[in-house]
Amino acid sequence: MAAYEYETHEYDVVVVGAGGAGLRATLGMAEQGLKTACVTKVFPTRSHTVAAQGGIAASLGNMGPDNWKWHMYDTIKGSDWLGDMDAMEYLAREAPKAVYELEHYGVPFSRTEEGKIYQRPFGGHTTEFGEGPPVQRTCAAADRTGHAILHTLYGQSLKNNAEFYIEYFAIDLIMSDEGVCQGVVCWKLDDGTLHVFNAKMVVLATGGYGRAYYNCTSAHTCTGDGAGMVVRAGLPLQDMEFVQFHPTGIFGPGMLITEGARGEGGYLTNSEGERFMERYAPTYKDLASRDVVSRCMTIEIREGRGVGPNKDHIHLNLSHLPPETLAERLPGISESARIFAGVDLTKEPIPVLPTVHYNMGGIPTNYWGEVMSPTDKEPNKVVPGLMAVGEAGCASVHGANRLGSNSLIDLVVFGRAAAIRAGEVVDADAANPDLNQASVDAALARFDGLRYADGNIETADLRLEMQQTMQDDAAVFRTDESLAAGVAKMTKVAAKISDLKVTDRSLVWNTDLMETLELTNLMPSALATIHGAEARKESRGAHAHEDYPDRDDKNWRVHTIAKVEGNKVDLTYRPVVTDPLTNEAEGGIELKKIAPKARVY
Ligand SMILES: Cc1cc2nc3c(=O)[nH]c(=O)nc-3n(C[C@H](O)[C@H](O)[C@H](O)COP(=O)(O)OP(=O)(O)OC[C@H]3O[C@@H](n4cnc5c(N)ncnc54)[C@H](O)[C@@H]3O)c2cc1C
Repeated sequence: MAAYEYETHEYDVVVVGAGGAGLRATLGMAEQGLKTACVTKVFPTRSHTVAAQGGIAASLGNMGPDNWKWHMYDTIKGSDWLGDMDAMEYLAREAPKAVYELEHYGVPFSRTEEGKIYQRPFGGHTTEFGEGPPVQRTCAAADRTGHAILHTLYGQSLKNNAEFYIEYFAIDLIMSDEGVCQGVVCWKLDDGTLHVFNAKMVVLATGGYGRAYYNCTSAHTCTGDGAGMVVRAGLPLQDMEFVQFHPTGIFGPGMLITEGARGEGGYLTNSEGERFMERYAPTYKDLASRDVVSRCMTIEIREGRGVGPNKDHIHLNLSHLPPETLAERLPGISESARIFAGVDLTKEPIPVLPTVHYNMGGIPTNYWGEVMSPTDKEPNKVVPGLMAVGEAGCASVHGANRLGSNSLIDLVVFGRAAAIRAGEVVDADAANPDLNQASVDAALARFDGLRYADGNIETADLRLEMQQTMQDDAAVFRTDESLAAGVAKMTKVAAKISDLKVTDRSLVWNTDLMETLELTNLMPSALATIHGAEARKESRGAHAHEDYPDRDDKNWRVHTIAKVEGNKVDLTYRPVVTDPLTNEAEGGIELKKIAPKARVY
């Protein structure tokens, strides 16, 4: 192996990732005077959060009555009763505070006539514990909400002296022999130097792994790097079988058309021009939850009522809305529709298809963002020195299905919670402990091995095999047959990692090597997804199993815990947290209100 020199940096906290979650955590850490570094492989404001359009959920009640308990209930029902009650309560209760904080930091929200934060309806958000009409709960900055949040949080982090390491690629965690996380090894992309970060706390905020699929709305950078690092540290992933398909990706390129489009009054039609969602979800229609709408669209297409020459997609209609509404509330998607579908949405419908959009599963954490490594005896065992927030983590507030606009709020609520917790557990006065050299060396050896990989398969080819397998066999609808085939195929695909060929050996802007590192991160997530799905013999949220069409709370109201080693996956299960944080007497929610029941919209 080549000898690698590296520079060592010491911090109280190192945050890996500068999306909404990473920046909110970075800002919170820095505000408390912790010496904080944020490492990111892309410029902070290019993180995928920038693409979030529709908005951020919080029960501000600016447009009509609302209540954090209704938000909590909707989140529970949305999760199909797989989310953890403590985390879901924390999310819904803290959401208004977190949004006002964003407002005070400077996020330019759209406004109502009276100057309050504008809120729009979104799928699955209702009133009166799912009994009342839809609620306007999703706070928006036109259809560029993530963009506004990201720019504001980056500015605030700089103001609070957080230090940024931009275009640094985190390769692996540094773990002590006792299982304490001590830091992270990074590669600086633009000059090829290596860097070791020694930190008392590492926060993984690396986003989702949408790119394990062929067709997705996520950026090319969404490669599950945090999950890859965690797996290599011998730690598990949770609930990876739950992958959200967004109903309205533009047919073909897959770019997202926000659910806000339906929130503002848009609706779906089939080849007969029928507003078919009225048939499936008589109450909430086009604003039923995402998993439900995606399945209904798939059924319409299967039954021959798709639109287009091949009857293989659906129409999203917006042309009945006043042009001023489109220009003011949905300027971004007007542009996307024109560029990517060649459609003028004031006149024509947009061709759409369900597209992979969000990963409910991820690195298991408690509601403080502390990473857990559950065992039978200790289901809540914490990994010292390691946190995970945002889409990379699984707290679990989204359970089997996430409600629209509940991710952005998850980013800021749990980014903030991680900072509060770090303030308690990180001693800023203590010296940083010596690093486990063996762990640093192992990371460098892996890096070197991939740099000189001289097998027979190009990274892009193997990635494509993985993406097509996942697209075919872990789709909107799943069967025993498709999942068994998927497990067999993915096991073979993953074994080929050892036969990769990297052609560029340099260290400066070596995108071949970077994409190879990313592929080694995507692969364990893809494996955990297909294995978890194959094992789960029920239908719940985004996991729609045709051989087991019903939810089975008796046997399957449990989190899947997946340990991945090479191309093998070992599954165990962890109980769902069924008690909220506060009881009714303390102003909390009535337990019987949140007990599992049939999920109809
Ligand atoms: C098109 C689109 C629209 C969406 N719209 C909404 C919406 O309106 N409302 C809503 O609630 N949710 C929405 N979502 C979901 C939500 O935006 C995402 O779940 C969320 O932004 C993820 O944020 P994050 O901070 O976890 O990660 P990201 O924003 O993906 O950021 C990940 C960060 O990690 C860094 N990183 C990753 N790997 C490494 C590595 N190896 N080394 C160094 N750095 C690394 C990246 O540089 C980046 O800074 C949308 C998602 C998409 C794709």
